[in-house]
Amino acid sequence: MSSSDTPSRDGEADRRHVRVLIVGSGLSGLGTAIRLGQRGITDYVVVERGPDVGGTWRDNTYPGAGCDVPSHLYSYSFAPNPDWSRSFSPQPEIEQYLRTVADRYGVREKHLFDCAMTGARWNATEGRWYVDTSRAAFTADFVVSAAGVLAEPKLPDIKGISSFEGKIFHSARWDHDTTLTGKKVAVIGTGSSAVQIVPSIAPEVEHLDVYQRTATWVMPQLARPYLAPERFAFKHFPWLQRLIRALIYIAREAFVVTQVKYPRTGLILEAVGRVKMWLEIRDPQLRRKVLPEHRIGCKRMLVSNKFYGALDRDNVDLVTDGIAEVRAGSIVSEDGTEREVDAIVLATGFHVADSPTFNLYTGRAGRTVSEAAEAEGYQMYKGTTVAEFPNMFFLLGANSGLNYTSLIYIIESQINYIIDALDTMRQRELQSFEVKADAQTEYNRALQPKMARTVWANGGCTSWFLDNHGNNSALWPDFSFKYRRMVRTFDLDAYDTVPRAR
Ligand code: NAP
Repeated sequence: MSSSDTPSRDGEADRRHVRVLIVGSGLSGLGTAIRLGQRGITDYVVVERGPDVGGTWRDNTYPGAGCDVPSHLYSYSFAPNPDWSRSFSPQPEIEQYLRTVADRYGVREKHLFDCAMTGARWNATEGRWYVDTSRAAFTADFVVSAAGVLAEPKLPDIKGISSFEGKIFHSARWDHDTTLTGKKVAVIGTGSSAVQIVPSIAPEVEHLDVYQRTATWVMPQLARPYLAPERFAFKHFPWLQRLIRALIYIAREAFVVTQVKYPRTGLILEAVGRVKMWLEIRDPQLRRKVLPEHRIGCKRMLVSNKFYGALDRDNVDLVTDGIAEVRAGSIVSEDGTEREVDAIVLATGFHVADSPTFNLYTGRAGRTVSEAAEAEGYQMYKGTTVAEFPNMFFLLGANSGLNYTSLIYIIESQINYIIDALDTMRQRELQSFEVKADAQTEYNRALQPKMARTVWANGGCTSWFLDNHGNNSALWPDFSFKYRRMVRTFDLDAYDTVPRAR
């Protein structure tokens, strides 16, 4: 790691000063590090709590893990990969891709691995952040929170769950030392992770109970391996891969029409979902159980060619009665049925809008990000900056998520904004910026009405898109290219600034 070693004192420890400190090295943090380097900003450090780059793609190693966004779109625009083996990439390939990219751009030496950020506080006098980590202490002119939205497993609060005596683990913390072969297994949850896990383990387990709280629409996937001549063409004619990427991007934007602009058009997709159910499930009772009661897109659509077939197997039961209690060796559903189980997989999702890292940043007013969100709702300015938190950027912050296409597109858009902000701060000789509270309020006031007619608000479901206040604080309610356009340049007018001391 190379950072300028300007010592600084906060009354307790020597600290290294860096211009930019990035928290997390998943797709967001790694991408930021690379782009900073390309821009000639080399005085930065990335603190990563895990042993390597990769974030959610390093952590989610469950059987069947893969991406349900097509491979050519699911990569950095500046680092296309002609070697994808399939049209939808399996997790090991994406993890390897991120490692390769980190090596190719030489950013590993800027990382501190196995290094958890433990606290960061804004020092208004000095106009910089004091950041503590498990391995070193820093001051930083700017902090980039790239801790990820799919980083912190959400564990269900079910009566008796701590008394379970078999193996129990979350999908993002798969216990590879435990073999499920020949065991009685329960999977709790039927989201995007579960639909990949269930078909992968069903053939090997003795019996599988899948606990479904809410049925969700499942769409087919045009998945296939790439042939050697195709990979040859991607390698030697890069324009071809770029063209395919552009076509996939445009096709995916069509989902904005069905979810945001004209939700009734989603009925066409629902018809596809119904046909799929009829074709893939023999048991009429099971078909009724998996038929969603909400409009398609209200919850994130699932994508799988194998999930229904797995549920239809003789050794698999779909339990829809709700879980009353977990006992030492069994799960009791609300109708009183007790089912024996040796291992439980919690495919129950993640803390998205309430990342534990938000407790660790203390801003200008002495409040943490969590406390500010608790008081005012989880909201940001353009999904990247927050009032009271000067010189700080959030990647994939409030209302910058997408549920139908590659999040890398949003991440790269936000990195553009960060780079332009840093350039602006340097050119104008500014020490700090803080988004004006009224700019943030106005931005969100204009944003929420766009949610009103979306299927996320009217589709008849609850989802992790909605926060504790019932607001959709997760998703961007428009075409993604409009988001990119909005954050193309750093709009200094929306910020209060302090000049650099001379
Ligand atoms: P998720 O979508 O949040 O699904 C969690 C599941 O657990 C839901 O079915 C939920 O039911 C259920 N659940 C939660 N708490 C429960 C409880 N106490 N009792 C019973 N059921 C409970 O989580 P995920 O499947 O891990 O996916 C999270 C996100 O990761 C996805 O939305 C997606 O963005 C991403 N992901 C992407 C891919 C990909 O291929 N790109 C793959 C996997 C994941 P309810 O529906 O009733 O809440």
